Amino acid sequence: MYDLVIVGGGPAGASAGVYAARKKLKTIFITKDFGGQSIVAHDIQNWLGVPSISGGDFGKMVREHVFSYAGDVLEIKEGKHAESIKKTADGFNVRMEGGGEYETLTVLICTGGKRRKLNVPGADRFEHKGITYCATCDAPLFSGQNLAVIGGGNAGFGTASQLIPYADRITIIDCGKQFMADPLRMEEVLKDPKVNAVQNVDIKEIIGDKMVNGLIYEDKDTSEQTKLEVTGVFVEIGMIPATDLVKGLVEQNERGYIIVDHRNQRTSTEGIWAAGDCTDSLYKQNIIAAGAGAKALEDIYHKLKLS
Ligand SMILES: Cc1cc2nc3c(=O)[nH]c(=O)nc-3n(C[C@H](O)[C@H](O)[C@H](O)COP(=O)(O)OP(=O)(O)OC[C@H]3O[C@@H](n4cnc5c(N)ncnc54)[C@H](O)[C@@H]3O)c2cc1C
Repeated sequence: MYDLVIVGGGPAGASAGVYAARKKLKTIFITKDFGGQSIVAHDIQNWLGVPSISGGDFGKMVREHVFSYAGDVLEIKEGKHAESIKKTADGFNVRMEGGGEYETLTVLICTGGKRRKLNVPGADRFEHKGITYCATCDAPLFSGQNLAVIGGGNAGFGTASQLIPYADRITIIDCGKQFMADPLRMEEVLKDPKVNAVQNVDIKEIIGDKMVNGLIYEDKDTSEQTKLEVTGVFVEIGMIPATDLVKGLVEQNERGYIIVDHRNQRTSTEGIWAAGDCTDSLYKQNIIAAGAGAKALEDIYHKLKLS
């Protein structure tokens, strides 16, 4: 019987892992990988103590920190996928994909999320044929081309800034009347003469032959449709929480995010906590996820050892 199973090695889970080891809770740490979603980012500039770091190096740094505590107290199962969690008489049973299971008194879910896919005609057909979800992976493939970035949040503007050295022209397209990215990041990107912005429109279709050669968007107020000639479409329209693991076990909101008490990260089920982007926290950032992981661990420790 373990004290705790942590699922997920992004900043939420990693920070919780460090706290769990320091508090000597007998813990299994299950994760497919370390560092989380931003390991594909070109440049992370808002992690305290490190003014600028690539996503890849951020992932390595997080992994090293957690592994520095590996041992009898903290057992790390890297490259593993937790498949299901069930309530038992004493706590919970966590089953692994491909076999194996653990009995635990408590569980902390830090499973984050994955990219939301564009859902318009042509989006499936042209995925990897001009439509991409990863600027870090694909930006150099689009050198000298006219590109669209769909989504005007931090991820969209981060993508646009990565494309600037390669693209001829970049159009950032958003469905809202205002972009949601940080003002500083927006200013930096929008001042580049290669960058245009289109707001308050719906994407209607991605068009092309064998590869993308354009997209059609519609103004939400006038219904006027415009064809934009682009040969690359970078999509950054948000996340879908990775919460299937606890479906039916804890309360989730209408979008699948786990509802937590933000004072202590408790879910609706006693013995299960959740932290980071998989929860209904309003703001999704590395440092916020890491803080939530730490907060959860303080509360789990209190519940297991002090109450
Ligand atoms: C492209 C991009 C750039 C970003 N840039 C920044 C930035 O510059 N600064 C910033 O602060 N934030 C940035 N963010 C946001 C930030 O990455 C997230 O807020 C943060 O990663 C959330 O951390 P998390 O630990 O909650 O979840 P995640 O980072 O999503 O980590 C979840 C982890 O759980 C694992 N996992 C999921 N399900 C299972 C399972 N069933 N079994 C085992 N393991 C599982 C995953 O493999 C992953 O390791 C960026 C996001 C993106 C997509």
